[in-house]
Amino acid sequence: MKYLPLHHDFAGRRCLVVGGGRVAARRAARVIDAGGRVDVVAVAAGEELKRQVEAAGGTVQLRAFAPGDLDGAAAAPAPSPSPAPSPASPPSNPLTSSPASTPSPPSPPSQYQLVIAATDDRAVNRRVAAECKRRGLPVNVVDDARLCDVVFPLTIDRDPITISVASGAASPTLARLLGARIQSLLPSGYGELARLVSRFRKQAQARIPDTVARIKFWEDILQGVVAESVFSGQFDEAERLLTQALESPAHATGAADKIGEVYLIGAGPGDPDLLTLRAFRLLQSADVVLYDRLVAPEILRMLRADTESIYVGKQRAAHALPQPGINRMLSDYARAGKRVARLKGGDPFIFGRGGEEIEHLADEGIPFQVIPGITAASGCASYAGIPLTHREHAQSVRFVTGQLQDGSVNLDWESLVAPGQTLVFYMSLNGLPLICEKLLAFGLSPGLPVALIEKGTTLRQKVYVSTLGEMRAELTRAAPRAPTLFIAGKVVSLRRKLNWFGT
Ligand code: SAH
Repeated sequence: MKYLPLHHDFAGRRCLVVGGGRVAARRAARVIDAGGRVDVVAVAAGEELKRQVEAAGGTVQLRAFAPGDLDGAAAAPAPSPSPAPSPASPPSNPLTSSPASTPSPPSPPSQYQLVIAATDDRAVNRRVAAECKRRGLPVNVVDDARLCDVVFPLTIDRDPITISVASGAASPTLARLLGARIQSLLPSGYGELARLVSRFRKQAQARIPDTVARIKFWEDILQGVVAESVFSGQFDEAERLLTQALESPAHATGAADKIGEVYLIGAGPGDPDLLTLRAFRLLQSADVVLYDRLVAPEILRMLRADTESIYVGKQRAAHALPQPGINRMLSDYARAGKRVARLKGGDPFIFGRGGEEIEHLADEGIPFQVIPGITAASGCASYAGIPLTHREHAQSVRFVTGQLQDGSVNLDWESLVAPGQTLVFYMSLNGLPLICEKLLAFGLSPGLPVALIEKGTTLRQKVYVSTLGEMRAELTRAAPRAPTLFIAGKVVSLRRKLNWFGT
């Protein structure tokens, strides 16, 4: 490892930036964000850079770089009307005095703790670097890794947690892509979690004096319901659970929390990439996954190897497992201390019976979370190039079940044929001839554009476009296979222009 990764407390310290362009401004902003003060020497500098630097108590001098700039005397701050945001005063060289010492006169060799060479002239940057090396000043040179003493890593900020990714300048792009991956796995609430935990550290130390037991306690807390409550924004609940855990004698001996949790997760309509970040993260943490027929097999392949996955899906007529059985499995697994993911196609609260399952959990006092998914209507419509609403064609959209009950579809047809709306029928393949007949009988035009989308959002997606009057004939011709979604409304005509997915 060529670089020693350190996180530097830069509050109140000083940095000289040579150069005033975009990269210089970005680096200066990072130093200022960390509480540092920046002086700039540049032949030209943008307005935003000037504003930022001066607001943080630094100076901008518009002229060519001279080696004496590094000594600090020339860059001593003009008395600034707006003091630096950092409480500390500009410290002298940290090698000779502590940062907490009172302001000292500019003391050679330099007041700077860091120099950034960011001009667009390589020769100037090289000169800055050479002068810094002579003075033993750490220097960062933009676009010239060989001259850098320090590099700016990509950082993922969940203050107070900071994650840095650096490629030792081998490939900043690789570091950025890796950073994006890490970002996607880190809930944005990590900072909140760290702050909550830090408030309880002393208490935990007193309550659980044994170090090993205490580490185990924190591991349970940081991966259990307390953490998940923070991530879902339930801060009071998280604090209550943490207080409770600390009070419970089971925890004081380091025993694991025995009650698990259920995540009711929407898996989206088919394309596995449409899973939300939270859904992905919770699936990764699940011990058991109970999934339905419409969940994409690619999503199941993302599970950890030791996660147990159980199919509980229902066929239209043949129930694989009756609902009470599923409810019972959820509560039994959770009571055994497992993290249970209940994975459903689309969104669990749209024709997903998700409500019933968590009602049961609520009755049983089992903690749960609901993670929305992209419902078939949004997913299929997007991938078919059919906007569900449109200023001219549809001011509202209705999601309707088209499921047959005793051979008929019982719906409020009067309200469904009102103008200016898009109708989306779920579970409607068998009832479709009947649905079309009713819509026509209640007054919709036979020329109304309609679309039937089969296996929407997947590579096997098929879209049959027709009119309300012709749909029955189209059905016989096309013989589509489930799952299908039926959309009726003027918006369907937009597909001709907006079909981007190509099927
Ligand atoms: N909770 C799910 C809906 C479950 S009901 C959601 O929010 O999407 C099942 C119905 O959803 C199917 O009968 C079909 O009408 C529709 N559906 C789900 N996935 C689909 C897909 N990929 N393509 C077309 N229709 C789909």
